[in-house]
Amino acid sequence: MEIVKLTLGPYATHTYLVKEDDFCAVIDPEINDGEIIAVLGQRGWALTDILITHAHFDHVRGVNGLPAATLRIHEADAPYLLPRNEELGMPFLKEEAITRPVVPFKNGGKIGPFTVLHMPGHSPGSAVFVAPGHVFSGDSMFVHGVPALDFVLSDRGAYMGSLQAARALDQNARLHAGHGGEGLVRDGIPVWV
Ligand SMILES: [Zn+2]
Repeated sequence: MEIVKLTLGPYATHTYLVKEDDFCAVIDPEINDGEIIAVLGQRGWALTDILITHAHFDHVRGVNGLPAATLRIHEADAPYLLPRNEELGMPFLKEEAITRPVVPFKNGGKIGPFTVLHMPGHSPGSAVFVAPGHVFSGDSMFVHGVPALDFVLSDRGAYMGSLQAARALDQNARLHAGHGGEGLVRDGIPVWV
């Protein structure tokens, strides 16, 4: 699996490009000045999928500038992708609407090399993309940090359950989070769980 990480936007969101065989995905495209398109062009990669870990605006603002590809998000966050600032309590953020069709996924879904792990808590449909040796966690797991659980639709109780589910992950897999540093999956699991 080839991985390119871009750090984009005012919140230093990590956008990942992932290539394996004919599968090529961008994970969480934040607003950008053509950096994502440039990487695709430089490497000759044909985008097949746009994978969204959750519907927060700083993970989706780059969608509209991407070539045609299947846009995927967990079914529980899909309703918030279009009016996606309402769930943040930030309707004043007048972001451009995403109008392309969405293909929702569920826990355990298979997408290219990935299996979906639903980790509700940060948002209802927060999801983690799991491949051998790699976990792309969005805002659901960080290295040496705890996800924000105070958004309008956050659910602390659900997140405790998500952490239990995450214990089944390969603890030696690389953790590619939506913000902050890189590490191993086990660095993203609080020791008090
Ligand atoms: Zn978020």
